[in-house]
Amino acid sequence: MYWNASIETMPAGKLKELQLQRLKDTVRRAGQSPFYRQRLAQAGVSADSLRSLEDVGRIPFTTKDDLRAAGREMLTCPLTEIVRLHASSGTTGQATVIYYTRQDIAAWADLVARSMYMTGVRPGDVFQNMMGYGLFTGGLGFHYGAELLGCLTIPAGAGNSLRQIQLMQQFDATVLHIIPSYALYLLATFTQRGVDPRDLNLRIAFIGAEPHTEEMRRRIEEAYGVKAYNSYGLSEMNGPGVAFECPEQSGMHVWEDAYLLEVVNPRTLEPTPPGEIGELVFTNLTRQGMPILRYRTRDLASWDPEPCPCGRTHRRISRIQGRDDDMLIVKGVNIFPIQIERVLMAMPEVDANYLVELTRENFNDVMHVKVEVREEFFQEDLRYLQSLQKRVTEALRNELLITPKVELVEPSTLPRGEGKAVRVVDKR
Ligand code: ADP
Ligand code: ZN
Repeated sequence: MYWNASIETMPAGKLKELQLQRLKDTVRRAGQSPFYRQRLAQAGVSADSLRSLEDVGRIPFTTKDDLRAAGREMLTCPLTEIVRLHASSGTTGQATVIYYTRQDIAAWADLVARSMYMTGVRPGDVFQNMMGYGLFTGGLGFHYGAELLGCLTIPAGAGNSLRQIQLMQQFDATVLHIIPSYALYLLATFTQRGVDPRDLNLRIAFIGAEPHTEEMRRRIEEAYGVKAYNSYGLSEMNGPGVAFECPEQSGMHVWEDAYLLEVVNPRTLEPTPPGEIGELVFTNLTRQGMPILRYRTRDLASWDPEPCPCGRTHRRISRIQGRDDDMLIVKGVNIFPIQIERVLMAMPEVDANYLVELTRENFNDVMHVKVEVREEFFQEDLRYLQSLQKRVTEALRNELLITPKVELVEPSTLPRGEGKAVRVVDKR
């Protein structure tokens, strides 16, 4: 049932002790990098001065800009000990680069294997990894974890829809790793080929890398006949395997033996109470080559201290609500793209994809929402489509408190790349 029972079910008090020990080790280690040597000295923080986990608050935060500026100044060891680099996908600007020692790669693979095992993946499963291989951590990160667990691993990579389906069929894939928006997009190709994904051998899908809603998960589960597990990670914290859903599917366990979690109010930077949305801040507890202290992820979620029925003691976080920096301000109203998705995915007439465009007309913000409508509904008459458009507009207005201009478009007509979906184009 557990990949590493003693760690996964470690009593909370013991886990905290382990974290404090590892925090001290990490601060000591980080101090060997030019960047943190200076940072920590300025802040007057040394490993020995940390007496409790709360003392982590004395360490300055690290931001994406810090990583960009510091580059290899963040390394704690000579380059001869570094065996790999990855870069974030650069969703919000210039990519940041992360360096790994051999030991870092092994520790990361172990966390991914632990996450996969938790959901019921076992040796003998055929794992099709449909994430981009290369600089993006989603591909190789899962690949190493799946091999360590003992899956037959298909390094399918991203895109090439037809080939993906052929691979699933030919090798009887049982487990998929797929970007959620791509999972829905791929359904059109299944339909074209006359293949029902539910007739394949699939039983589990890992979906992550981009924010998505419960409605989206349910759609994927239904269409593919799988259980879909939310998978969270970021390259700054290795990549996938930071937080992962267990079979309870009620929040994601953060692997607290490897990552120290804080959730803070992004304005005041004070810790938020359980259940309140805040910014996730992580500190590496086991990384050797490039440990990062108090990394501000910009990702928004809440935390849950309640014990989980699965027996794991590691705290859970909610679904990611979006990034602090992808909040839109339209006509003075704060909007998160995920709110739009929640409304759209709850409407059975809406197909896989949507696109939000923001423009300024006569000094006013205008939000255009292009929505793909399912084939069977598109065949209805004009009056029907007009009433549908009105319903979509009203549902969005109820959620967002502003009135968007809704345009219904045919299925599979909105642009779709291979990686993370681009849902918002701000032309203002
Ligand atoms: P980038 O920041 O350039 O996208 P990464 O490839 O490191 O680079 O992506 C990590 C980010 O992806 C996270 O910080 C988060 O915003 C998003 N992400 C990853 N997994 C999930 C998930 N399960 N749900 C929501 N967002 C996620
Ligand atoms: Zn659990």
